[in-house]
Amino acid sequence: MANDGSPVAGATTEQPKPSAAKESNFYQKQYVSSFVEKWDELIDWDSRSKTEGQFFIDLLKEQGKETVLDVATGTGFHTVRLVEAGFDVTSCDGNAEMLAKAFENGKARGHILKTVQADWRWLNKDIQGKYDAIICLGNSFTHLFREVDRHRALAEFYAALKHDGILIIDQRNYDQMLDDREYSSSHKFYYCGEQVSAAPDLLEDNLARFKYDFPDGSSYHLNMFPLRRQYVADLLKTHGFQTITTYSDFQETHKTEDPDFFIHVAKKE
Ligand code: SAM
Repeated sequence: MANDGSPVAGATTEQPKPSAAKESNFYQKQYVSSFVEKWDELIDWDSRSKTEGQFFIDLLKEQGKETVLDVATGTGFHTVRLVEAGFDVTSCDGNAEMLAKAFENGKARGHILKTVQADWRWLNKDIQGKYDAIICLGNSFTHLFREVDRHRALAEFYAALKHDGILIIDQRNYDQMLDDREYSSSHKFYYCGEQVSAAPDLLEDNLARFKYDFPDGSSYHLNMFPLRRQYVADLLKTHGFQTITTYSDFQETHKTEDPDFFIHVAKKE
């Protein structure tokens, strides 16, 4: 391991030390294969589908959308769900390992996914055409640490959408974490019963570091930028999106209760 926490050449299965790396390219180093394999093995897609229900499928269908660009494909969960619901999906991710895993997962379910490796900040260099909808799910947008990178990514998403396209971005409820640091440091998020847990083990104004604990005793970290809900909504407006509707844990609400997730649906017209 190098002094800055980055893996030394050849050590590709090791995650860098949980240093306070605050840069937008760091996502490339965090998703090492052992973490990805373990995650997919334990967080089974059936239970994840149950929690999420038909939310994204219904929303896209109601809007009459057909072509979808999944910009944060990861291991392919949303891509596969949407393909199976009849959407024409292109699966994009900046991380080659993630895309390979998504392709494998798709194939195991009888689908040949259309994959494109592209970083959001230069998205239109690598994709072709314009889409009805873009999805950026699983708290992915918070991988961007620099304001300029968030601007670049949103400008690229906007340009990749048709004139009446919609962008769906979700994020954790960082407002609650930032406003109530004592609560958040003791709060664990459980996945798959009690098998996997995640808790913020370092929280600063510009860093939320989550520690994921697995039943075999191993643990991994993900460094995220703690985005405030209103900041994201304002950013979407700045980039020309006309209407932004924010849902809390898959329900449209204007209440100030404390959901785990926010989902922003931004329309170009
Ligand atoms: N959406 C999937 C899910 O919910 O299971 C995966 C979410 S995972 C938390 C975030 C994904 O975003 C990773 O696959 C990562 O490689 C990708 N990502 C992060 N920053 C990116 C960037 N700048 N450009 C392209 N992909 C990026």
